[in-house]
Amino acid sequence: MERIVSRGERIRYKCIRSGTCCGSGPNVALTAFDICRIARFLNTEWRSLVGRYIYAVIADQIPIPVLRGINNRCVFLQTSNSLPTCSIYPARPRRCRLFPFIPISPSIKDKMYVSRICP
Ligand code: SF4
Repeated sequence: MERIVSRGERIRYKCIRSGTCCGSGPNVALTAFDICRIARFLNTEWRSLVGRYIYAVIADQIPIPVLRGINNRCVFLQTSNSLPTCSIYPARPRRCRLFPFIPISPSIKDKMYVSRICP
């Protein structure tokens, strides 16, 4: 069960660059904006991302684009100076920008999950 924080509640955390969030998936759902931002960052057309970096999972008969994982690591996760590094950091998806906070649902705007996998 994930912890839930409410609007106005304060929570302190510091990223220690464990890479856990990027290496425990892949489960990063993408918006159309995410896909366009990544394509622009990689200076390519969005269709060229499909299969190589992105695929679709089917949830309740609805296809949802997600980042591809290789050996349970995000396809964009690399190692730089012995630290896990996102190779598309300026264009990373919204879910990555929000992490360790995770939206509960579009209709719940005053609460969010806090991931338990984040050390
Ligand atoms: S896109 Fe970057 S920040 Fe997001 S999971 Fe992949 S490596 Fe991590």
